[in-house]
Parts: sequence; structure tokens; C-alpha cells
Amino acid sequence: MIKLFGRAFVDDQIRDDVLVTLDVPQIVDVRVVARPPADAERIAGVIVPGFIDVHVHGAAGADFMDGDAAAIACVLAFHATEGTTALAATTLSASRGDLHAAVDVLARVARASPRGAEICGIHLEGPYINVQAAGAQDATSIRPSDLHELAALISLAPERRWIVTFAPELAHAEELIEQFRDRVLFSIGHTAATHAEAVAALEWGAAHFTHLFNAMTGLHHRDPGVVGAALTSVGATVELIADGIHVHPAVLRIAAQAMPHRVALVTDAVRACGMPDGTYKLYDSDIIVSGGAARLANGALAGSTLTMRRAVQNMVELAGLPLETVLPMATEVPARILGVDNRKGRLDAGYDADVVVLSEKFDIEQVWVRGERG
Ligand SMILES: [Zn+2]
Repeated sequence: MIKLFGRAFVDDQIRDDVLVTLDVPQIVDVRVVARPPADAERIAGVIVPGFIDVHVHGAAGADFMDGDAAAIACVLAFHATEGTTALAATTLSASRGDLHAAVDVLARVARASPRGAEICGIHLEGPYINVQAAGAQDATSIRPSDLHELAALISLAPERRWIVTFAPELAHAEELIEQFRDRVLFSIGHTAATHAEAVAALEWGAAHFTHLFNAMTGLHHRDPGVVGAALTSVGATVELIADGIHVHPAVLRIAAQAMPHRVALVTDAVRACGMPDGTYKLYDSDIIVSGGAARLANGALAGSTLTMRRAVQNMVELAGLPLETVLPMATEVPARILGVDNRKGRLDAGYDADVVVLSEKFDIEQVWVRGERG
């Protein structure tokens, strides 16, 4: 058993003198103690739940679209070193064959439980999106929604949480949601929808927004757009890419304050994450990474090189929010989105032993994934 003693994020507060006892695969006990046992390790930083990323494509030169078990293992291992202990493996708009192959390998790897971050979900970012808001997605792979294709993909991994990013203004979007809303979290994104179209999609059952502000209609005071629908929604959750490039720090702060308990920090990281500046593949496109920003040749942002550790740091240092406000955005909220909030996202007895020790400078000092050192 591992015993960590020090400051810890427990019940939405950072408390002193917490003893966290963990084993494989669960947390055994979390309590405030006057004096730690002799075999406890004193922690200088803060003990927090492992981070959960619901939108991530790759890292360290590998991408979930590679359709290769070794590439998937590489992404899972890299993000674990940056504090991510669970994630939704995210695909891109791709040909039918490539998408099916990628999901097939992901499903098999997820069942084998490799080391590193746990694949709790599969996030299809397209292909049922609006080509007008494609961002860096391959325009030729974007297509009308196809109930048979989606059913076939889900059947490859029915035990995972499924997130589908879709554009509600496209034909048959309502039918798509009606057919799959029991099995899929529908996420509004890569969309040119009006405010009214986004509100209608929420009524049909969509309940999430993919990288809020990016690749969607913005908020204008006479035309509130998709962003307005997200801000005024009661229960829908949203993703924020907190790299300081995709969304201005002031807007990160506005979003966090306007939507308590509804914001999930995501990386949207691509294979260039953790790699030097240079040219990399994003499905069929070349992307150029310069100063950490990933773009297509035409200048469009193409995912990010962000890590969850850095996203948390940016929400504190750039957006000016207290760490206690930021941590749930990287833990509890994404655990809820992935339907694993009964076992992840908190430091509590009986929860998975997904634990991160964060230094004062936001470095990752220790990572435990289901009780194994990451
Ligand atoms: Zn993405």
C-alpha cells in the first residue's frame, strides 16, 4: 500500500494534513490526520485526482487514427506522464474504412487495458459535421449522418462511453439523436448552426459542446449563436482548450464563471504534442507546429500541443482562477461526461487509485493509474 501525506484536493477544497492511502486498483482511505504514520511519504506539492481528457487525438508522434496498437499505447503512456489517467480517444473525419479500422483497434486495445491513461470513451469528432466549419478536418471525408455506419462503429466497443461531435443544422440530425441518444453523448461542434438550431438540438437530447468557441458561431448580443446556447443551457457540458491560443484568457475566465460545474478542460492534442516544432501529419493533411501552435498551411488551427497539466496551469496563471475552481474542470466534470464519476474524478475511498502529485510550479511529480506508478 502507498501512503501519501500532505495537501490534497478533497471535497472541492485543498486541505492540509491529508493521508491518502492507495492500493491496486483503488483508493483505500482518505482522511485528515494529526500525525502521519511512519511509513507515509510527505508530499511537498498537492495531491489531486488524476486528470481526465474527453478530447485528445495523440501525442509523442502517435495518433489514435494510426490504427496501430503500438501508436495507441504510446499516446496513453505520454499523456499519463502529464497527469492524464483517463481519456476519450478521439478520432477525426476519415474515410469509412479508415474510421472503422481506427475504432476497431482502439476497442481491442481498450479491452486489453494497457499501461498509461485508461480509454474510458471513444469520441468521434466528425464525420457528421459542417464542411463550412471543418477547421483542420479533412473536408473530403465529411459526410451526411449515416445511422448504419454509427451503429457498426458503436458495436465495436459497446462498453465504452461514446461521444459524437455533430452539426445540428445538417439533414437528419434529429433522427440521428433520436436513434442513439441512449447510447451516445451528442456534442454540438464543427457547426455553423444558428442559436435556434443549437437550442433545438439540446431539446432533441444533445448535451455537450465540442471545444466551445472554436469552429462554431460565436456570441453576439443580438445573435447569440451556438456559444449563447451553451452559456444559457441548464445542464449541458462544454469543452475548453485552455492553451491561450484557441481562446483568449479573458474568455476562458468568463466561460468558467458563467458555467460552474459544466466546463471540462480538454487538450485536443495531436501527435505533435510533446514533440519539437516541425511538420506533422493530421490524418491526410500536413500541419506545421511553430511555437507550440499547430496549424494547417492556410493558417487554420489544427488541434493543439497542450497537455492537461498545462491546461490546469493556464487556467490558474492566464485566466486567474483559483486552483480549487480549476481542478474539477480537469477531474469531476470530465468524469461525469464519461459516465465514470462513480469511480473516477475524486479522491475518495473506493474510487480508482488515479492520483497525481502536482508541484507548486504545476510539474507532475507522481502519477498513479489504478494504483500502478505511471
Ligand atoms: Zn479535435
